[in-house]
Amino acid sequence: MVEGIHRSTRIIVDGAAIRHNISEEISRLDNKSELFAVIKANGYGHGIRAVAKLAKQAGATGFCVALLDEALDLREAGFVEPILVLGITPVEHARLAAEKGISLTVGNLEWLQEAAQNYLEDIQLKIHLGLDTGMGRIGFQTPSELTVADKFVNEHQEQFDFEGVFTHFATADEKDETYFKLQVGRFKEFMNALKKRPKYVHVSNTATSLWHAACNGNMIRFGVGIYGMNPSGREITPPYELQPAMSLVSDLSFVKKITAGRSISYGATYTAKNDEWIGTIPIGYADGYERRLTGFHVLVDGNECEIVGRICMDQMMVRLPKEFPVGTTVVLAGRSGNQIITMTDIADYANTINYEITCGFTERIPREYK
Ligand code: PLP
Repeated sequence: MVEGIHRSTRIIVDGAAIRHNISEEISRLDNKSELFAVIKANGYGHGIRAVAKLAKQAGATGFCVALLDEALDLREAGFVEPILVLGITPVEHARLAAEKGISLTVGNLEWLQEAAQNYLEDIQLKIHLGLDTGMGRIGFQTPSELTVADKFVNEHQEQFDFEGVFTHFATADEKDETYFKLQVGRFKEFMNALKKRPKYVHVSNTATSLWHAACNGNMIRFGVGIYGMNPSGREITPPYELQPAMSLVSDLSFVKKITAGRSISYGATYTAKNDEWIGTIPIGYADGYERRLTGFHVLVDGNECEIVGRICMDQMMVRLPKEFPVGTTVVLAGRSGNQIITMTDIADYANTINYEITCGFTERIPREYK
């Protein structure tokens, strides 16, 4: 995608906030536990390589990504730390992962058998066995399935380095712990089915690490907290201040006064009741600022300004309290004067979660680091 460097719309990533969030979390871990930074999806939109560097500075000892390609990008950038691919990688790429020292998640016996037979004749792959304790996404379904896989891995130690075992909780970000406890119980049953504990046992995403003492793990997969966002939205308060890392800013590219009765944007859905000052901002749904945010607001010089008319692909309009010059800064997320817009504010309006908002900003918007 072409990056828009000749317009003012940009994402500003606060490196100090990222380091703060990671250091705070590490300070709460026991000294045998490690923090792996989850930097899939371009570091939740913040920039995979930049976040990897910051996370390392703050004490992260490894990385988790979703795709083999993301892991390869980190290796390409020179990162030598352990990297775990959390999703299922097509078995034909097992050899490439092994060559690059990248750990893959495995969720069934057939994958192991095929990898051993066809792709790992003379090379060893690091693997983490994923256990489905209730997320229903990937992983071994029962302890007996795990026992069979464990045996197979033990019989194929030249092909497999059994480095880790993990599960993922579906409701760690909710106050009600009923389902969480059910998963913990199943995880214990799975662990009893293993002959030997591997190097890494990991169950905690951000929410689990923030709010639950779980399962005697020795590594956490810390994701959304890195970026200063609360995984529960507003439901549970974090034990320390999560500092938001991402701001989204632009400027007014066009300013005009319209007379009462004039309409704005596609469908002419907004009609001015009075004479009004309208500002145009060069950002739209092709940047990930979604159409469903029509009616939400941005900040101009500390003033909340409503988004009026439909958000277009590359531009949108806001109602200004008075005339502002072209070039005036517009804050779409972040602080302006005494006002702040958080990713959770945007998510609430769009009826989604803060994760989806930051991941959704496209690569057309340049990222700046301070
Ligand atoms: N572990 C797994 C398996 C995940 O899929 C994710 C993200 O979705 C994470 C950890 C990180 O979660 P969070 O960003 O909530 O910390």
